[in-house]
Amino acid sequence: MSKKLADHIWFNGEIIPWEKATVHVLTHAIHYGSSVFEGVRAYDTPDKGPCVFRMQEHTRRLFDSAKVYRMTIPFTEEQINQATLDILRKNNLKSAYIRPIAFYGDIGMGLQVPFGTETDLAIAAFPWGAYLGDEALKNGVDAGVSSWNRLAANTMPTGAKAGGNYMSSQLISMEARRHGYGEGIALDVNGYVSEGAGENLFVIRNGVVATTPKTAAILPGITRDTVMTLLREMGYEVREENIPRESLYLADEVLMCGTAAEVTPVRSVDGIPVGNGGRGPITEKVQSAFFGLFNGQTEDKWGWLTPVE
Ligand code: PMP
Repeated sequence: MSKKLADHIWFNGEIIPWEKATVHVLTHAIHYGSSVFEGVRAYDTPDKGPCVFRMQEHTRRLFDSAKVYRMTIPFTEEQINQATLDILRKNNLKSAYIRPIAFYGDIGMGLQVPFGTETDLAIAAFPWGAYLGDEALKNGVDAGVSSWNRLAANTMPTGAKAGGNYMSSQLISMEARRHGYGEGIALDVNGYVSEGAGENLFVIRNGVVATTPKTAAILPGITRDTVMTLLREMGYEVREENIPRESLYLADEVLMCGTAAEVTPVRSVDGIPVGNGGRGPITEKVQSAFFGLFNGQTEDKWGWLTPVE
């Protein structure tokens, strides 16, 4: 059993005790990576209490990922949204990491899944702090470019958040940690910068912000979209364009973002200091605008927060 992180889990329409949310060793998804999932966060806000951040977009992406793989999720988006709120309430969580996962379960061992086979669906919600650490949020993470590339365009779709894709992420982050870095950055098969093992990347030079495009083997992150929106709101030019590796070394600032990693400065790449080797001013601004959404300092003009109560 997974280490107990909360009392209950939502599983196939029911809220059940953590200990009971188990699957068989012949679960299809364990053998073939046949799952699609999301990572979502809830924050305790001063005005609206606990709120889920961009829940509708995450649920939409879960269904998009399933669609790519022709998976049938036997629930509606509305039901998943409601279930997300229900499990947060049941576990009495104010801020949390939420993990919805749709997977082929006990459907037999054949690789081929008959069309229309329904997935199982679980939603776990539990407390989880800063993924790359509190220190990194403030002073930045040391990143290294991986010798592993991200998936080539016509091999596996990186725009779908599928379980199997994370074998690639594991190679990238394992290598980085083995070399003493806090996180790994991968290039795509064309040699352009793609993304971190579980984060999108932004590179800033002379006040112009660039992030890697959807065609660079990324998962187009919801935090990436948030950061682009916040920066544009502040008047910065934000480009989606191919980024060559050397731009990481020559940038004034680099940042990583994702639901787990939130908005984290990158202070060095391959041992080369980024800018002055700490958190840069634009990163600091967008970071405080981002966390401002949850501490009441940034107005939620976009309706990104869904109150749990
Ligand atoms: N890329 C990868 C490979 C990821 O796993 C994640 C985390 N889901 C991201 C980017 C960032 O996506 P998001 O901001 O939607 O969490």
